[in-house]
Amino acid sequence: MIGGIKVEKATIRANVKDRFWKRYIDVVRNEVVPYQWEALNDRILGAEPSHAIENFRIAAGESDGEFYGMVFQDSDVAKWLEAVAYLLEEKRDSELEALADDVIELLGRAQQPDGYLNTYYTVKEPGKRWTNLRDNHELYCAGHLIEAAVAYFQATGKRRFLDIMCKYADYIGTVFGRGEGQIPGYDGHQEIELALLKLYEATGNENYLKLSQYFIDQRGQQPHYFDQEKEARGETKPFWYDGGYRYHQAHIPVREQKQAVGHAVRALYMYTAMAGLAAKTGDESLKQACQTLWENVTKRQMYITGGVGSSAFGESFTFDFDLPNDTVYAETCASIALVFWARRMLELEMDGKYADVMERALYNGTISGMDLDGKRFFYVNPLEVWPKACERHDKRHVKPVRQKWFSCACCPPNLARLIASIGHYIYSQTSDALFVHLYVGSNIQTEIGGRSVEIVQETNYPWDGTVRLTISPESAQEFTLGLRIPGWCRGAEVTINGENVDIAPLTKKGYAYIRRVWRQGDEMVLHFSMPVERIKAHPQVRANAGKVALQRGPIVYCLEEVDNEPNLANLFLPRDAQLEAHFEPDLLEGVVVITGTAERVDESAWNDELYRPIEPRTYQVPFRAIPYYAWCNRGEGEMTVWVNEK
Ligand SMILES: [Zn+2]
Repeated sequence: MIGGIKVEKATIRANVKDRFWKRYIDVVRNEVVPYQWEALNDRILGAEPSHAIENFRIAAGESDGEFYGMVFQDSDVAKWLEAVAYLLEEKRDSELEALADDVIELLGRAQQPDGYLNTYYTVKEPGKRWTNLRDNHELYCAGHLIEAAVAYFQATGKRRFLDIMCKYADYIGTVFGRGEGQIPGYDGHQEIELALLKLYEATGNENYLKLSQYFIDQRGQQPHYFDQEKEARGETKPFWYDGGYRYHQAHIPVREQKQAVGHAVRALYMYTAMAGLAAKTGDESLKQACQTLWENVTKRQMYITGGVGSSAFGESFTFDFDLPNDTVYAETCASIALVFWARRMLELEMDGKYADVMERALYNGTISGMDLDGKRFFYVNPLEVWPKACERHDKRHVKPVRQKWFSCACCPPNLARLIASIGHYIYSQTSDALFVHLYVGSNIQTEIGGRSVEIVQETNYPWDGTVRLTISPESAQEFTLGLRIPGWCRGAEVTINGENVDIAPLTKKGYAYIRRVWRQGDEMVLHFSMPVERIKAHPQVRANAGKVALQRGPIVYCLEEVDNEPNLANLFLPRDAQLEAHFEPDLLEGVVVITGTAERVDESAWNDELYRPIEPRTYQVPFRAIPYYAWCNRGEGEMTVWVNEK
């Protein structure tokens, strides 16, 4: 405890051995991170230059030239460094580490004497720092650099990057606040708040916690800071999104916000910080706001894939039950942010509903953003694609195939850092309990009650619901294991050393609490039955009326043209269709597919008319569904998650 505030380390990192996730981590290590490094250095032929490293050289006075790129270009370097940190944590690699150390030294040289570190304002608009918080992402870039510095410190034990960022954060702390001569503002794109919280956790320095709280508390207060700075800039036009500041979740103070609005990534980064702060400080009103917003997002505005933000306009939330499948946005970064938020909600309250959403996003709407070999990426994650329709003006944001790189390259490096850090999401710990949130083959070494405990998790999840946990305390020890019983599972069985345990009376809010004296080599086997489930959307979701989606375990399925012929809209799944699931080792790096018999309407009866009074004839066709995350790895074609039901 520091001044009544909890600083206990809630997360523990597991070494991931899992077939499913280890493959993804290797893809990030061998493909995404090296490619991104080339991109940051403008060495990718045919791709738009990034200039991100060059911008730092110019800021350091080591190169002439002009700033180039987005105002938030620095954050690409930050996300690369953060992903590298997690990779080093998983496996030390002296070459990669040397490369990162060089970049960190470059950042140090680009840092201004007072601590300021931002290439756009240092190079392009010197003297104009902090004059457009609403649009220009200075605090956002600072936040990403702080997150990277914390990760790098934790991975390598080296303080250099952390010191650079503490100096910057200390400087930011002098600039912002309600005091005399300070700027009573906050960032236009939330990120600094959650980053300062991590910096506080890494250093124990309460100033960072207070600064994070300040940014959260000040947001949306009147007189409105964005109005004040706008006036100071001599701008008169109303803000493009809605004239107010819903886009930035700055329309009203955060505790009064009941509904997720505006830019989805901004919103979810903010909720992540709010949840983390509420967990640290015991702030009840902030906790309430988080819970209300959680219910709104996950019960009214979330796709079955864990995608969020259904409108391309402003990459934003819209209103309850508005979840169109084809004009969707569902940015990869927004699903990633949902994972961050869920993780923080679990610190606030141990409830399986948070881990369920975390798992949903992890196995579906986040990794769908990348192809299986890590070379191409989706920014937008549709649930229904008719490639021809992507030529329409109102669907141009929906790409029918993944793209190589983007000029606004937020998603690929964000996904890289998430995948590389998956080991941080599996377990958490309180003083005498260890919680298992995700079933991922891995091992951990931790301390409970002053004694070391090793846990080995073995599973073929998500294809198989059997999980074996071997628990080895250094000597016999009593503690609680909190096992998440997935929300999708309707039949969970647990045995310890071969004996059945009735978990029903031990289960509370999605976790089975098993307290006993654990002895070295105790073996617990969990079995979560994983039948194919037909999922229906709430009747208020107009887009899914009369349709059904297939899910097995945490995996949401889709149909692709390559398996099912064109025009997936003319495919009907009978209510009594037999659905078979089997593993195909050679398909899409090994997936469980769902097969069965569907029906199609015979088009020939229309006799080339567009409209006819007709009783349609149908015929039977075999169908095959594959995991949604793996769609579009076999060329361009139609895809749909929601299938007509007959
Ligand atoms: Zn993104």
